Amino acid sequence: MNLILLGPPGAGKGTQASRLVKERGLVQLSTGDMLRAAVAAQTPVGLQAKSVMESGGLVSDEIILGVVEERLAEADVQANGFLLDGFPRTVVQAEGMSKFATIDVAIDLVVAEEVVLERISSRRVCSKCGAIYSVAAPPSTQWVCDKCGGDVEQRADDTPESIAKRLAAYNTETQPTIDFYAASGLLVKVDGIGSPDEVFARLLSAIDAQLPK
Ligand SMILES: [Zn+2]
Repeated sequence: MNLILLGPPGAGKGTQASRLVKERGLVQLSTGDMLRAAVAAQTPVGLQAKSVMESGGLVSDEIILGVVEERLAEADVQANGFLLDGFPRTVVQAEGMSKFATIDVAIDLVVAEEVVLERISSRRVCSKCGAIYSVAAPPSTQWVCDKCGGDVEQRADDTPESIAKRLAAYNTETQPTIDFYAASGLLVKVDGIGSPDEVFARLLSAIDAQLPK
């Protein structure tokens, strides 16, 4: 089973992705991790990506697609299937990937913009271990991480201006990608409002309803 998880920043993709891969035994893939791994392994596309990044440039769709194609060909992914989190971001990437990957279900985790704004601006993150808290659910001691004792703070890019920018990019680039999967008959929309357990239950039943019996 090969899945794509799409949705605006702050929709809760990270939380749901890690639960989904556990539940269904999939390999979780993100472009950041795949790029870092390809660079470290010095694969041909990894070396291309490295020189672009070192010169301060943006890694092209062609290079990213090359990295994804290499990763999807590896044995663990072939045996277990994958969940792509936050990729493809654009129609060009989605079309490119359709040439070498079969997607079973593309999930759109739907959360309204005002909810996303509220969620991200109240988010607080441990600077040491990355544990996520919020103004409404802080650590038990004032802004000291329950897990590791690190400082819990607001990320520099979780400001209203930065969130607005990310949402605008999402609307212009990723919304057409969602339409692309809808036109291919692969899209399921899942309501992302509610507790993590509620959203997860919805996700599982939406995926099962979409898969051929
Ligand atoms: Zn921590």
